[in-house]
Amino acid sequence: MYIGMCLCDLNKVDEPHLHLPYNFLDYLNSYKAYFEDGDKGMIEIQAESPYVFETDGNFLSNITKNKWLWIPYYETLFDANLRDHFKEIYDQIRKSDIILGIHQPIRDINILSDDSYWHERSVRSIEESMRFANDMNAIYFIIHMVQYDNWNMPRQQQFETSIDVLKRLSTFYHKNSFSFVPCIENLEFPKLPATGFEISFCYDTIRKFWPKIKICFDLPHLWNSQRIIKNHAHTPQPFHMISGFDNFSEICSRDYTAYLYSLKEFECIPGEIFLYHIGGCYDNMTHGIPGLKPWENPFDNAMNIDCPSRCYDLSREMDVSKTLDIIVSWSDSCIRMILEADQKPNAEAQRAISDIRKTLKAKTKRLERKLNA
Ligand SMILES: [Zn+2]
Repeated sequence: MYIGMCLCDLNKVDEPHLHLPYNFLDYLNSYKAYFEDGDKGMIEIQAESPYVFETDGNFLSNITKNKWLWIPYYETLFDANLRDHFKEIYDQIRKSDIILGIHQPIRDINILSDDSYWHERSVRSIEESMRFANDMNAIYFIIHMVQYDNWNMPRQQQFETSIDVLKRLSTFYHKNSFSFVPCIENLEFPKLPATGFEISFCYDTIRKFWPKIKICFDLPHLWNSQRIIKNHAHTPQPFHMISGFDNFSEICSRDYTAYLYSLKEFECIPGEIFLYHIGGCYDNMTHGIPGLKPWENPFDNAMNIDCPSRCYDLSREMDVSKTLDIIVSWSDSCIRMILEADQKPNAEAQRAISDIRKTLKAKTKRLERKLNA
């Protein structure tokens, strides 16, 4: 079981003296403080600084400006202090039993853009972040297929454009002999893929040319997609879906956990899910602490993550306990899960991860006992 956190270099809520990637080791050490014997850790780096810059119309990898890239390339730094500092980070990561994942950049990324410059810049930036993932010995890399809200472009067209990009990324991956696991992630509607059908349709198409592809299943994104689709349920022909197969009345009539549970009808769910993203969901707020109201914190309030459904206001918040039950029932012994609570201070996120880890262990044991009984 690997339960971990994401670290984003543009996280605004952290203590002012903690800057990523400079203070990566401080994050690493404070995170380890919550480990029990035998716990395994996982960190997902969401590096948002641009990966490319351009000179004379040529795109170059942005080794000097993107400081994340200084970690693998510390040997090329002129400043001896910086060189030593980033060498230390790199050595510690390699020595630790924490596994790393890298998330593609999302700022200024729009592969749907008509502007060929923005399209090209977006793809190059993703390619360079894949190179970073390889240099960091990351075990997985997360790709957003269509990162941009486009309500007017038919979803079939969005799908085709993003498949062309995925084909290019696959060629780049194979040409460079990368070995990390590439994962597509479900996103918030109208980004793509947003529904169970779309995840399965995209996955089946991509694995034909990129057999190593897996799924990062984002639980809050599914929450918000369902909420947004419900809010638009009465608009005529609203969604330009990939095909008529997505059953909107089922998406809209079920509550969140019933919809989540129904997704196991798709062949790739849960079998091809490599990891889960989780975050507290309350109305349209999706990156909080699971089982807490947005104004609560895990030091003063018990997280509702192992309790009956009546503990939740189901019209407004996710039944986290039942959601975790479903995931435990879907998983063999190896659950990988990243808490995305970037609206919350780092200390609260770490405390929450520790509670989620304990709860998942308890739920797994309970299920094993039940199956053996
Ligand atoms: Zn993502």
